[in-house]
Amino acid sequence: MNIQTTGRAKAVYMMAAILTCTWFGGQNAQAQSPINFGPDDESAAPAQRTRADIEDKYKWDLGELYPSLEAWETAFTEVERKIKKFKALEGTIGESPEALLKALKLRDRMYAEFMMVMQYAAMSYHLDMKNSEAAGRSDRVDSLGTKASEATSWFTPAILKIPSAKVFRWMDENKDLAVYRHELDDIYRQKEHILSAREEELLAMTGDVTSAFNTIFGRLQNTDLDFPIIKDEDGNDVQLSSAQYYKLIYSPDRRVRKDAFLGLHQVYLDKRNTISAILSGQVKQHMFYAKARGFDSSLDAALNGPNIPVEVVDNLIGTIHQHLPKLHRYVTLRKKVMGIDEVHRYDLRVPMFNAPDEEVPYDDAVKTILTALEPMGEDYVSTARKAFASRWLDVFETPNKRSGAYSWGVPIAPHPYMLLNYHGTRNDRSTVAHELGHTMHSWYSSRNQPLPYAGYATFCAEVASTVNEVLLDHYLMNHAKDDMERLLIVQERMEGIRTTVFRQTMFAEFEKTIHEQAEAGQPLTGDSLCKTYGDIVRKYYGPDIVIDEAATAEGLRIPHFYRNFYVYTYATSLCAATSIGQRIIDREPGAVEGHIAFLSAGSSKYPLDVLKLAGVDMTTPRPIEDTMELFGELLEEFETLHARINGE
Ligand SMILES: [Zn+2]
Repeated sequence: MNIQTTGRAKAVYMMAAILTCTWFGGQNAQAQSPINFGPDDESAAPAQRTRADIEDKYKWDLGELYPSLEAWETAFTEVERKIKKFKALEGTIGESPEALLKALKLRDRMYAEFMMVMQYAAMSYHLDMKNSEAAGRSDRVDSLGTKASEATSWFTPAILKIPSAKVFRWMDENKDLAVYRHELDDIYRQKEHILSAREEELLAMTGDVTSAFNTIFGRLQNTDLDFPIIKDEDGNDVQLSSAQYYKLIYSPDRRVRKDAFLGLHQVYLDKRNTISAILSGQVKQHMFYAKARGFDSSLDAALNGPNIPVEVVDNLIGTIHQHLPKLHRYVTLRKKVMGIDEVHRYDLRVPMFNAPDEEVPYDDAVKTILTALEPMGEDYVSTARKAFASRWLDVFETPNKRSGAYSWGVPIAPHPYMLLNYHGTRNDRSTVAHELGHTMHSWYSSRNQPLPYAGYATFCAEVASTVNEVLLDHYLMNHAKDDMERLLIVQERMEGIRTTVFRQTMFAEFEKTIHEQAEAGQPLTGDSLCKTYGDIVRKYYGPDIVIDEAATAEGLRIPHFYRNFYVYTYATSLCAATSIGQRIIDREPGAVEGHIAFLSAGSSKYPLDVLKLAGVDMTTPRPIEDTMELFGELLEEFETLHARINGE
């Protein structure tokens, strides 16, 4: 439950500040916090080059944020001063429109300056994570953030004490205050679910107790579960772990991926009674807060924060159901292409068709991406060109650099920054396009919105990045040198839709079903959860999938179920982006302008309304159907290309 997130600017800045994209490509066991370490993190090979070996144009210039450490220290002290100043405003904001406006403006400035202080500390640390001075600065910023949160906790409750009619009258009279109309509307919208001061105090006191389920599950999964040792392709012993699993499940050696999959999931199956009790506790936690705050259901409560109607989730699941025959066809295609007589769950991740990865030099990737983005128009492309030419990216891996990739935009910073670990794979090229999409979103929103709306909601966060990928894929398809290259692109795109749309919708359906079961008074036991999960998996993958008993325990392994109705956003984002990208490719009138309007809107409207600017209405089936249509076309294309390559 997140009534607190109505402190919009705060929540949006804090949560959307760092966008890393572990879900991209379908890896989904991570994504627990705004800073996500991707599944490839553990495998980072020793870097060959030091920072001194790399030309400046491929490295960040953090001097653009602060010219010196002294300047950063001064900014840090200024944030501390603003925190104190803000705290001192407690008790004043109901006096006049001017007093309320003063507090809102000070809060915005304080958070923006804090974000930039944090950005500098974190990014300089990310360049060398063994640098203890940089680590120390990062720790100091964490404490500063806690202070800022504490100093502002009085603010939303104090706003709610002023009658809404009075505040709205003030806004009619004061145009500077009227800037905050959407934010204040959002705060008052949630008022009916806020309880009396004493009740709120009691609910806050339950936090430490109710968060225990997530903590217990994390401890069990990360430290206490004993996973077996299996043999890799060369017959060497490998200790299974969550990280190892994500490597071994891609093994072309069927015995290896089978041992990894069944070995891992058997452990969850054996512990199903304990884990089901933990997950059941988490579900009851959601039910408790929903009931306490007067919501109809857990789902209703979870979607209230971002103001997403329940129909969005129902529409996603319902529309995907109608297109499940396409996923069944995909499983049948796998069976045929891979030449196996049964498709098991461990046969779904490995590429159907293997070819050596071509080397894509970074400069070539940049050229390709800039050309692929040309349909977005000159303004978009010239900003992208500037990003590549003006050290917005830190491109290559160096010793002790943070792994993975992200884009980080702060409204008052000169521009967003992107961190990469570019090794020259085709996937790395897609990552550049993806992170650039986040950067453009931050860039347009920062430049077109006042501070309170310069960030963007989680529901919209992965759309801009994925639109860039859609445009890149389309360009690569049209410029592939041969059928083989085309086949590989088609394969990657199909896998992207399978893992991000079908699989995440499947998770969302499981999550929704078990909450409904609990709300109807049914106990969630190890056996009932495995049965529910197994039935859903069978429905999604169809008659050609074989579900081993251990595979039914997968639902007990996914940490996202401790995040309260979050997985569906992966699927909706990809569908929205596919729909937008397709219209841009088709040169539909207004498509580019709509997308730019979306990028420029930040959080100035509710997430669904912001997306509507790009012509996408996530309460309707259309964006999901567009994506399903594309999936169908990709299936056909794959079959044709594969037959041609094999001389059939
Ligand atoms: Zn992303």
